[in-house]
Amino acid sequence: MEPLERERAKKLFEKYRTHRDGIRNVPEAAQICLICGSIHIIPKPDNDKMLYCRDCRFSFYRYICPFCGLTVDGRDPQNPGCRECGERICTCGACGCGSKAGRSDAAES
Ligand SMILES: [Zn+2]
Ligand SMILES: [Zn+2]
Ligand SMILES: [Zn+2]
Repeated sequence: MEPLERERAKKLFEKYRTHRDGIRNVPEAAQICLICGSIHIIPKPDNDKMLYCRDCRFSFYRYICPFCGLTVDGRDPQNPGCRECGERICTCGACGCGSKAGRSDAAES
């Protein structure tokens, strides 16, 4: 993905900081920390479903749903946490322990 321009990042930050609905559908939002506004976002080393802000160390879920292909973003109110597995629930209803998977302990490659 192209590096995010500061101006564009700032606008997205201002917009989604308080209204997080729909942030999962904004590709550039994956590169913005909604806590501090930083664009220094990197994959979290110990969790491939999470991203991590290098500046304030906030981490959040952001990944592609393996069942329907939509983006899941833990900051979006439409992707609430699952009470069973703690992962985020996709708008399709699937999550890490979801019945759609049919398994919860398979090692992902
Ligand atoms: Zn941050
Ligand atoms: Zn899904
Ligand atoms: Zn779950």
